Amino acid sequence: MVEFKSLRNSDLIPGEIYEAGLTGGFFADEVISNIFKFDNLRGIGNQGGIRRAMIENNPSFNNEEAFVIILDTKGDSDWPNKFNSSTKILNYYGDNKDCKKHYLDTKQKGNAAFEKYFHRAYSNTNEHIAPFFYFERINGKDARFIGIAVPFVDRTPLNTALELRKFIKSGEGEYENYVASFTILEVPVPRKWLYDLKVGNFESKYIPTVWHNYLQTRKLPPNNEVNVIFPNSDMTNPPRNTGYRMTAYRKTQAKFRSQLLERESGCQLCNLSLPSLLVASHIVPWAIADESQKADHNNGFLLCVFHDALFDKGYISFNENGQILISDELPSSEFERLHISEQMTINILPEQEEYLRFHRATILA
Ligand SMILES: [Zn+2]
Repeated sequence: MVEFKSLRNSDLIPGEIYEAGLTGGFFADEVISNIFKFDNLRGIGNQGGIRRAMIENNPSFNNEEAFVIILDTKGDSDWPNKFNSSTKILNYYGDNKDCKKHYLDTKQKGNAAFEKYFHRAYSNTNEHIAPFFYFERINGKDARFIGIAVPFVDRTPLNTALELRKFIKSGEGEYENYVASFTILEVPVPRKWLYDLKVGNFESKYIPTVWHNYLQTRKLPPNNEVNVIFPNSDMTNPPRNTGYRMTAYRKTQAKFRSQLLERESGCQLCNLSLPSLLVASHIVPWAIADESQKADHNNGFLLCVFHDALFDKGYISFNENGQILISDELPSSEFERLHISEQMTINILPEQEEYLRFHRATILA
């Protein structure tokens, strides 16, 4: 759970819950508007449903969305949004239910945003495509981030992925509304990328690899290669899963491990060098890393089983100089038994700083 006071500094982590405020003021407590606050930039409002964040301070992108937030509040039976966690397809209803209005003429312009970006995603032009970020309401006020919603579904034509449907409202007549199918990419979204999107910097170095690849190729990676969730950083607990998924996992993990064994001579904290007790430990955990981060040896430390367990569970991390940071949850009386001391340091490569920053902010207990 990300506490309310930390929302403004948080990355978006799939599955993570973002906590609403407790002041009792609906607008002050509202979780999404507080996540998407950036210094010197406009906020995104605190109404529910679909919210557009516009690009600012960049005249080439006037009236273009930086990104669009979709929040399933689960509070409207006319809009039974549905995310299928095995196919990774989200069915999400647009924002018109007014019989007297055109379906694009809605207050938050949600249907218009759907239309604009689905059409662009299905065309072959190079026009800007805004990512959608999908959240679900949870515990009444909090929000859970699910992933990046891509306005595109593989092997599905545009008029099926973005379907204009007629609905009947008893006593009032008919209205039209979009029912959109998005593909969800369950990858972390760095806050620095959100900022870059807001100012129209599309060359951001923080852009998630799968999204970048999608924009370049208009192809989504097969389901099994992005969204696999494995609980451990090594093979100690192979998950029950399809052979196909396991093959992809084994290949990437075996290569990752051999690169680390080549780079290091033993545990990077205690020098233990028995290969069978050494673990190729991911800094940004496998479960939430994107494809390139899973395979990147810079996202790894070679640690003994002891130090891997402590690092993996967030009991230890390292500052930018490589000095050990020990969680307050570990009493100092146990340090010796746990083979740690406050004097320990680890060697950090420049390419590892960003990964480690994430570990400190998100994993360290
Ligand atoms: Zn060790």
